[in-house]
Amino acid sequence: MRKLVAAGNWKMNTTLDSAGALASDLAKKVQQESSVEVILCPPFPYLTTVKEKVSGSSIKIGGQNCYHETEGAFTGETSVGMLQDIGCDWVILGHSERRHVMGETDADINKKTVAALEKGLGVILCVGELLEERQANKTNEVLQTQMEGGLSGVSAEALKNVIIAYEPVWAIGTGVTASTEEAESAHDFLRKWLTSNYNADVAESTRILYGGSVKPDNAEELMSQPNVDGALVGGASLKADSFGGIIDAA
Ligand code: 13P
Repeated sequence: MRKLVAAGNWKMNTTLDSAGALASDLAKKVQQESSVEVILCPPFPYLTTVKEKVSGSSIKIGGQNCYHETEGAFTGETSVGMLQDIGCDWVILGHSERRHVMGETDADINKKTVAALEKGLGVILCVGELLEERQANKTNEVLQTQMEGGLSGVSAEALKNVIIAYEPVWAIGTGVTASTEEAESAHDFLRKWLTSNYNADVAESTRILYGGSVKPDNAEELMSQPNVDGALVGGASLKADSFGGIIDAA
């Protein structure tokens, strides 16, 4: 059985005070023994505060990005080791905003993925198609390219520390959620990709999350699909009651 995941990607939101308050509220809700794996990904400057506030709960924290080099003259970047230093277990890589706003390529994402996994930092690897790609019936082609590119050189053993997040770009922050059929079809494609490129065990044990306008009232139906193992949540993860509702739905 795959443990369901509720991950909150806070993006470039919150303040020091609101991040701490949100983390405290969620820590009260998520006990040590939780049936759901809860991961919070606040902005870099608030990671340490959030980590402190969730101590005593089973909540894990993650970065929203990292750089593949270990150290040196890379102004503005954050290494894998730095994230681990402050208690991160996860990093989100390949998010659509990194791909489409910051111009990251599959090759960039692959370097980061390999660097994180080499050091034992878990990777939430995001993949997903643009609206025009879906309309041109290219969804599976795009997913295949992003999976092949992002996971190039990653062994079956290392993949145990990877969560895949399917985030159709047209559903992110738009209020338009993929239908359960659309989500399940993409997740099924991704799991089959894992079977053919790794093996059946890897495919069976890898969590595949859905992301894109997940709310408390659509979370349960999405997560009831056989291949949807949780949610990567943006907007609705910024309020304790809505993210709490999504955790309850998982
Ligand atoms: P929304 O939940 O705001 O659509 O964002 C999804 C997302 O990008 C999570 O990474």
